[in-house]
Amino acid sequence: MTGTDTRLRLRGRAQMIWVDDALLLSLGTTRLRVAPFTEKELPHLHELRGGCAADQVASVPWMSRLHGAGFLEECTPASSDPDLARFDRLLNFLSEMELAGESRFTLLRRLREAHCVIVGLGGLASWVVYNLVCCGVGRFTVIDGDVVEMSNLNRSILFTEADVGRPKVTVAAEAMRRFHPRIEVTTRQFVVTSQEDLVPELEKADVVLGLADQPPWVIKEWITAAAQRTKTPVLLASGSRVGPFRLDESGACAMCDWSHQIERQPLYGELLRRQLRLPRGSSGALSPHGAMTAAVVAMEAVRHLLGLTPATVNRVWQLAGDFTAGFDPCVKHPRCGVCGTTGDKGLPLPSESLERP
Ligand SMILES: [Zn+2]
Repeated sequence: MTGTDTRLRLRGRAQMIWVDDALLLSLGTTRLRVAPFTEKELPHLHELRGGCAADQVASVPWMSRLHGAGFLEECTPASSDPDLARFDRLLNFLSEMELAGESRFTLLRRLREAHCVIVGLGGLASWVVYNLVCCGVGRFTVIDGDVVEMSNLNRSILFTEADVGRPKVTVAAEAMRRFHPRIEVTTRQFVVTSQEDLVPELEKADVVLGLADQPPWVIKEWITAAAQRTKTPVLLASGSRVGPFRLDESGACAMCDWSHQIERQPLYGELLRRQLRLPRGSSGALSPHGAMTAAVVAMEAVRHLLGLTPATVNRVWQLAGDFTAGFDPCVKHPRCGVCGTTGDKGLPLPSESLERP
């Protein structure tokens, strides 16, 4: 789409090397060699970095080749929208995806309109939230029943000492809006005690991120089961594990992961039942650990929201103690109590280990 008013410029992520009389360009996997390239062309290249009229590009053969090979984008139009400046470097990333057909502005709008539900506002979630806002995600529902405690502050970047005693959801929403005033944040302050608690919150979400860890495994079941009912894509993470990311019926869910575990170790359910009766400990927590896990969660969510396939579909990403990371396969379990397809009751679920009053 070029016309007399259209201006074109080099995509921000285009890399260049000038060797002898040739200019070598790369953008992702695309390579282009412009030769001869001499001092005479250099001012035009600088001009092209800033933006040239489409007619000028069309009249210069090497510029025209760059355009044909996908190295040029339309200049960002003059706009009063402050988010175009805020997300300028994000738009450079999205620019590369324009080659697949959608403009970077459409992709940014998709992120801004995306609604992400976050269950649990611990240290992991605090890094996830900031990463998502940095990536342009614009609508959030945050769910947590706790208040801020002093001991949260060694790993959460959402809270300050002045917030101790205040609801986490309230403080988080304030921090998020302070960081980016044009996002929407809905707060829900309650302790999740069943899948039914979550169903109304998930109905209009584009993705739910389960980042709560209590009660162990049971909270994963409630989030997964609620997402199954509302058909909401769901990704769970805790500690140093992320996944599997369930997008639809075809993929494994977190309870498939559980089902494989209890199939290998039938006593696992009983062990959980006993663990749930023991006094709850307070595990050690290092902020960089959470930040690394959170980066994977946020990247996966953004990939999904942009229409790319997340890396943790049917896999679990795991960070080991020596900082090596890798994927463990997690295929759908036909007898999974949440998404199983055998038609029977399926394998026992974690909530069956809960002592009900
Ligand atoms: Zn499942």
